[in-house]
Amino acid sequence: MDLNEIPVRHVSGVSAPKAGELHAFGISTVNELIEYYPYRYEDYRLRSLTEVKNGDKVTVQAKIMGIPVLQRYGRKSRMTCKMVADDWMFTATWFNRHFLREQLIAGRDIIVTGKWDMRRSQLTVSESEFPDKGTLRSGSLQPVYSVGGNITQAWMRKTIGQALLQYGEMIPEILPGYLLRQYDLMPRRFAIQRIHQPQDNEEGQQARKRMVYEELFLFQLKLQAYRAMNHERQDGVQHEVENKTVREFVRSLPFELTDAQKKVELEILQDMRSPYCMNRLLQGDVGSGKTVIAAVALFAAVKSGHQGAFMVPTEILAEQHVRSLTKLFEPFDISVGLLTGSVNGRKRKDLLASLQMGLTDIVVGTHALIQEDVFFRSLSLVITDEQHRFGVNQRSILRRKGFNPDVLTMTATPIPRTLAITAFGDMDVSTLSERPKGRKPISTYWVKHDMMDRVLGFISREISQGRQAYVICPLIEESEKLDVQNAIDLFVSMSQAFPDFQVGLLHGRMTAAEKDEVMRAFYENEVQLLVSTTVVEVGVDVPNATLMIIMDADRFGLSQLHQLRGRVGRGEHASFCVLIADPKSEIGQERMKVMTDTDDGFEVSRRDLELRGPGDFFGTKQSGVPEFRIADMVSDFAVLEAARDDATRLVGDPSFWTSPECEPLRRYLKREEVLQGELID
Ligand code: ADP
Ligand code: MG
Repeated sequence: MDLNEIPVRHVSGVSAPKAGELHAFGISTVNELIEYYPYRYEDYRLRSLTEVKNGDKVTVQAKIMGIPVLQRYGRKSRMTCKMVADDWMFTATWFNRHFLREQLIAGRDIIVTGKWDMRRSQLTVSESEFPDKGTLRSGSLQPVYSVGGNITQAWMRKTIGQALLQYGEMIPEILPGYLLRQYDLMPRRFAIQRIHQPQDNEEGQQARKRMVYEELFLFQLKLQAYRAMNHERQDGVQHEVENKTVREFVRSLPFELTDAQKKVELEILQDMRSPYCMNRLLQGDVGSGKTVIAAVALFAAVKSGHQGAFMVPTEILAEQHVRSLTKLFEPFDISVGLLTGSVNGRKRKDLLASLQMGLTDIVVGTHALIQEDVFFRSLSLVITDEQHRFGVNQRSILRRKGFNPDVLTMTATPIPRTLAITAFGDMDVSTLSERPKGRKPISTYWVKHDMMDRVLGFISREISQGRQAYVICPLIEESEKLDVQNAIDLFVSMSQAFPDFQVGLLHGRMTAAEKDEVMRAFYENEVQLLVSTTVVEVGVDVPNATLMIIMDADRFGLSQLHQLRGRVGRGEHASFCVLIADPKSEIGQERMKVMTDTDDGFEVSRRDLELRGPGDFFGTKQSGVPEFRIADMVSDFAVLEAARDDATRLVGDPSFWTSPECEPLRRYLKREEVLQGELID
């Protein structure tokens, strides 16, 4: 019997209502219950008062020496009682536990747990038990689970204990023996039992080590198996485009590709020409020139007789890409369409028809692009940004729909290595490691609000010299309405401060056409100063803009600040970023310093991760960074790397697919829908 298939209801003591409540904790099977690990242990092992430090929490066995003294204060109470342990006379104190009074009989043994005040010889009791009634906790390490609602700590301990009694013998091994030996790992059955009920800390640690490795290994196995199978399937599109043709396009670009761009271009073309489905991540700092790489790939797809889709997060960006791609592709007779939420009616219908007939070669748009009623004649390349990354499961949806395109994912946020190998373990990675030559570094300053006058002077100087500037409005959490109001207020005051220049306003409540018009005006330098909410964050490219002012900068995340800063420094002129903020906390100040210290996106995200911890890094689940039951991405990083290497090696070994020892792993992959039926049984 597979513990994954036994409902938790079968554990005695789990009633239907309790099973319902466990469900909220993600527990519906016996396996999920026994894999609900404690996050720490409470130490109830008996100790001697002579060996504990002042202020420690301690459990001791004592003899009651006197009668309890009770003081009541309304509904509250304080009760003290003399006792002795290890020849040490002390006073035990209870708060609001007067109902214990009857049981405190002189001469009786008692086990008390609490905080030890050595100087006053006093112990403030949090829990107590009487050995003559049998003990539950005392003398052991007790697991502490994350509980809530009607599920109490005591119930959870009892129920998991019960599940282990009933089913412990059935816990199967899942890792092959050679890995257990290599890392000296406990067998699974033993580890699961001991992680809940360790005899000592050392054993708890050993059990944890085994389960951490297992969790990370299974996760990596899933990614690596997917990747290996993908390379093996050979049912992707084999793009056939001549080098000569691609060179012609590259030569038509207004600049020469950097060495990093050339290298990445080759990696992508090689994938596209091969018969497997490309699943590649292109990472590079803001301004490193990812878009032009996307253009080369789209060009190759079209010249191989297929179509390409380019998914971006905002309408502004989609429109900008349509504009620049149209210009680049004009001499090559390649048509580019736009599909966003604001394209509808007749226009939308025409575009869809044209895509289906293959008259439109490339379509740029938002996520709806390939999810909805959109059909292509021959879609062979999808380029997305990190926010739209396809997970393993979404890719199989694409496949089932009949598309088997190559996928290139671009990230605007450089991802620290730790997260990259976790979140993107199923992908091949290309990195743009240098920015185009001749770029001047962006000087970043952090100033307090009371220096606003000087900031205005700075703006004035730049725009008088013919440059342009962004002023980004403070972010109000959870209220787009307030963000917009802020932008409007700031727009009014900036218009007053700079009567001789054109000030523009951009925010999320404007229609796409309005935004488009403002961006166009800014692009053409009809507007010199653009007041905006964070809608300009991603991808906007105006090389003459040299000054980025960010109001209340401490309200933004570091990678967001870095993205915003990346809007300047795109042309030949020296550029500046001014952060206006009065952060109160030390971390807040530290974050501003990170920004002034470095303009390297990888360094920014590394420090960000340090300051925030990984759980917070991307904000929400959209990132695809998995949540682990027991492993910690930062502190268990070395294990994660080892697990990845082991998983890669194992799936690369032909015997993996047949050896009996790996059968449980294949079963796991099937459960996770990485393997389809035909590969097992
Ligand atoms: P990213 O998308 O990585 O932030 P972009 O692709 O928008 O960067 O490129 C930033 C700017 O640099 C654009 O104006 C682009 O035309 C320009 N650019 C890209 N590659 C080069 C290059 N090799 N040499 C000079 N300029 C380049
Ligand atoms: Mg291919």
